[in-house]
Amino acid sequence: MLEFPEYAKQYPPGWQNIIDRLVAKLDAIDFDITVLQAKSKFASLRFYTRIKGTKHYEDYIWKVVDKFVAEAEAESTVTCEVCGAKAELREINYFMVTLCDEHLKERLKNA
Ligand SMILES: [Zn+2]
Repeated sequence: MLEFPEYAKQYPPGWQNIIDRLVAKLDAIDFDITVLQAKSKFASLRFYTRIKGTKHYEDYIWKVVDKFVAEAEAESTVTCEVCGAKAELREINYFMVTLCDEHLKERLKNA
């Protein structure tokens, strides 16, 4: 079973679909997994978990979880963090963001 407490949900709204798919995959694994934090760092998803009953990162279950998380993180680097459309990594005033063309324009207007 997957636990994903509200306080751990710190990711931008455009990545909701990525998170939903990741959560479905993790939920299908028959292990007690708790999401500690899901957030954006350097414009890509970071997804930290704890797996009950396992301490060793080399355990098979960690490899499975890492694979799913890595796929979601890779997807987040090409997904607009505002709307979920196809996006690119951009730099605005030395700050990295993943935005579609439309939201890049909007962000630059307000920069
Ligand atoms: Zn967008």
